[in-house]
Amino acid sequence: MRLVIAQMKHETNTFSPVPTDLRRFARGRATPLEGEAIRAAFKGTGTAIGAFIALAEKAGAELVLPVAGDASPSGPVETAAYEWMATRILDAVAKGCDAVLLDLHGAMVTEAHDDGEGELLGRIRKLAPKLPVGVALDMHTNLFPAMVENATALAGYQTYPHVDMYETGMRAGRPILALLEGRAMPVMVSGQRPMLPHVMRQSSLDGPNFAIQTRAKDMEREGVLAATFFVGFPHADIPWAGSSAVVVTDGDAVKAKQCCDALLDMAWTDRAQFVYRIEPLAASLARAQQMQGGPIVLLDHYDNCASGGTMDTMTVLGGILDAGLADVAAFAIYDPEAANKMKAAGVGSNVTLALGGKMDMPSLGLKGVPRQVSGKVKVIVDGQYKNEGPMAKGAAGDMGLSAVLDTGKVEIAVISRHTEPYDIAPFRLLGIDPAKKRYLMLKSRVHWRAGLGPLAKATVECAGTGVCTSDYAQLEFRRVRRPIYPLDPDAQA
Ligand SMILES: [Zn+2]
Repeated sequence: MRLVIAQMKHETNTFSPVPTDLRRFARGRATPLEGEAIRAAFKGTGTAIGAFIALAEKAGAELVLPVAGDASPSGPVETAAYEWMATRILDAVAKGCDAVLLDLHGAMVTEAHDDGEGELLGRIRKLAPKLPVGVALDMHTNLFPAMVENATALAGYQTYPHVDMYETGMRAGRPILALLEGRAMPVMVSGQRPMLPHVMRQSSLDGPNFAIQTRAKDMEREGVLAATFFVGFPHADIPWAGSSAVVVTDGDAVKAKQCCDALLDMAWTDRAQFVYRIEPLAASLARAQQMQGGPIVLLDHYDNCASGGTMDTMTVLGGILDAGLADVAAFAIYDPEAANKMKAAGVGSNVTLALGGKMDMPSLGLKGVPRQVSGKVKVIVDGQYKNEGPMAKGAAGDMGLSAVLDTGKVEIAVISRHTEPYDIAPFRLLGIDPAKKRYLMLKSRVHWRAGLGPLAKATVECAGTGVCTSDYAQLEFRRVRRPIYPLDPDAQA
């Protein structure tokens, strides 16, 4: 048995000014991993591609590993980058194989295609019409019909923070192996409801999504091969942004449809609970100052790099500095220029920097605004670490040349590659113990809860500035299908 296993992951924020070239998919190298280097990098890691490798090795299959690319969310993928990766996958399929297992995100928009995944799957289907194709997807998939039409089995994460990447790889891969071995005949049904659940209300740890994901897991315990409810990714102005569901059963299309509708109906009934209410920043910071103990997480959720944020807006950090909050660690400001200046100055030096604000945000009509910050260079590191988990456990992390600027009251991590804080490892590397801080400013939305949630005494959500704004009114939606809730409060299912 020969299996083609590949990864090509990107969540595209169509409002983001951050460019998405091939290097962004390459984790610090010039081009993404190819061949046996992929097995070495991912075998035994808590990722979907890690699960595919385990499944294939257990089945005694020959592995063909054409490419593994995973880019931090940003603007539309450059055509050259997309074609570089897609061509390698298609070439591997053209040489002959028994099945393809793909670790994709499910919200990839390219310069040429609204649906990067559907385009890739359509090309594979054209090349090999009967080839079984299994795909692991993120819960933030914006599901286009072409993805369902051109795959055999789709399965998406059932947790947010995403701590079940490995299990999702298993859920997508097992039906394909069962098909190859004559043990099952997967059928798949999908559907959607016209709604854009707010990212700040999507966590599976609580709220409406907890019950929906619990129901999906119950369906699998009761014999469904894979049941997935996608919350969708709203910061993508494309026709099929929003929530959807897909269910795979063994030969029972009626049951698949019933399960799919059950998940979608739960979401639609609870749609008002997926709407987020915004608190002004000054009120949030004043509230945080009244709280006792720590660490209190000050969540800069408008500028999360893992949703396409530039990670260099200074509104929330500026508010913290202006309010005089003390014993604060801030992770992080993306500013390679500032990190280089701190390295040139050296550990122990006093510096004054025009920090952050290097990137304009045309989709919001905003210019980047740096802020003068003075402090001592406390730490300089190369930024390489391994995730301790539970999210992407064992996978390598790279925040590039990184440094800590200590103002006396605030320790500011300054990094050179976009890195969302969801793991303790980058803090350790920078010599910051988050558990000992009174306040932790994090540029994140939900994923921080994976590795740092247990440390937090309280959370204060801080409305700042950024292209993953939590205020939909700041975004101009022109292409998403209408009516859609809550942009259109009276939208009907
Ligand atoms: Zn996601």
